[in-house]
Amino acid sequence: MGLSLTGVVGYQLAVSKINDANGLMNSLQSSFIDDRLDWEHWRANSNIDTQDTYVKVYYDRNNERHTFYSKNTKDYLTKKQRHVPLLNTIEIRDFWHPYYHLYKTNKGIHYEIWVGFHSVTHLFRLIFYTIILVMLVSFLIGTWLISVLAKKLNKPLLNLTKSAQIINQSQPLPEDTQFPVPKNPQEVQELTKEINRLLRQLDERVKLNQQFVSDASHELRTPITAIRGHVQFIQRHGKTHPEIIDRSLGFIDSESLRMQRLVESLLNLSRLDKSTISVTKINMTQVIQEFIEGYRDSISQKIILKLSSDVWALVNSDSLEQIILALLNNASKYSSPEEAITIKLFQANQEVHLEIADGGVGISDEEKNKVFERFYRVDKARNQNIPGTGLGLAIVKRLADLNKITITISDNKPKGTKFDLLFKKG
Ligand code: ADP
Repeated sequence: MGLSLTGVVGYQLAVSKINDANGLMNSLQSSFIDDRLDWEHWRANSNIDTQDTYVKVYYDRNNERHTFYSKNTKDYLTKKQRHVPLLNTIEIRDFWHPYYHLYKTNKGIHYEIWVGFHSVTHLFRLIFYTIILVMLVSFLIGTWLISVLAKKLNKPLLNLTKSAQIINQSQPLPEDTQFPVPKNPQEVQELTKEINRLLRQLDERVKLNQQFVSDASHELRTPITAIRGHVQFIQRHGKTHPEIIDRSLGFIDSESLRMQRLVESLLNLSRLDKSTISVTKINMTQVIQEFIEGYRDSISQKIILKLSSDVWALVNSDSLEQIILALLNNASKYSSPEEAITIKLFQANQEVHLEIADGGVGISDEEKNKVFERFYRVDKARNQNIPGTGLGLAIVKRLADLNKITITISDNKPKGTKFDLLFKKG
């Protein structure tokens, strides 16, 4: 900007100086009266700046040269002359002071004018220094403003870092830790909210893990206590009452079996927590039919199959069998042997539905969501001494999530429970 401004102004000034020189030349030529230059009259009336403009007029008469100089011209002409390359009309005699040189001959009279560009170079210098000064001041003010602004913008981030350091230093990590949310800038506010959301999720996960460990220990402690009790019972009374040994060994066997199932389920769950699953397009009708043929005899209830033919879905076939097995075992456990279990497979609205319905004890509305939690067992199940770990449906839920299957529970009519599985169509 500075350069273009200087260029335009300088060019305009130079043009006006050249016009001045031409005007001066015209006025000089018109002062020529009766073949004689009225030099005195011209000098008296011309308003030339003798510091900046030099005039020389000469002509030859009767083999004699008559020369007129304006004030200071002689001095000027004694100085060493240099030319600017490519600009013939510009010459430099003073240091850094260029002059525009105009030469004309008219009726044997030679006119020479030198107009100095002092004002132009002066203006150039002035603009140059002003630009440097303005740039320097802008740089200083800009640097100061940027540092103030940077501090202001960084402050919330610094606060965030400080809070994180304080939280990190406090051992153990306090529960429900949250960062203070700044009002602005918006980006840091959003970032803090997201971090807080993340912290809440981590907190929930930690709590769930703690709950899981305490539930698992509790569930394992029950059979261990029973086993130890029977072992001590045998140690104390086995010799005197050998008839109790068989009974106690029976208890120890069933309790250790319970423990084995529990540990297997726990291992299964922890494996599923870490794993991802590959799904393929499978013929659900065929897989279910084959599976039920092999399973039918292991439960006392009758299984009714209502399968639409050739239904395909995207699912992992091992997961599918594991889910059906767990749901059928539950259906069998929580209903009487006379109540049939119905398995229905059909397509509706571009989705594949698999329903497993029994006529058993049913699940109340407030417990329908809870039964998927780890170790959750409805009291009715505990009271009736139905064996179980409370992990079966948690494993089903995890498998359903991995396979992107939606699973819902509803009441079966007239009684019992219905599990509805929604698959992605293959
Ligand atoms: P469990 O080992 O106790 O069967 P699950 O996780 O499989 O554990 O099931 C959790 C609870 O849900 C069971 O204790 C039971 O009360 C209830 N439940 C599951 N399936 C059925 C069903 N088909 N009918 C009635 N109640 C059920």
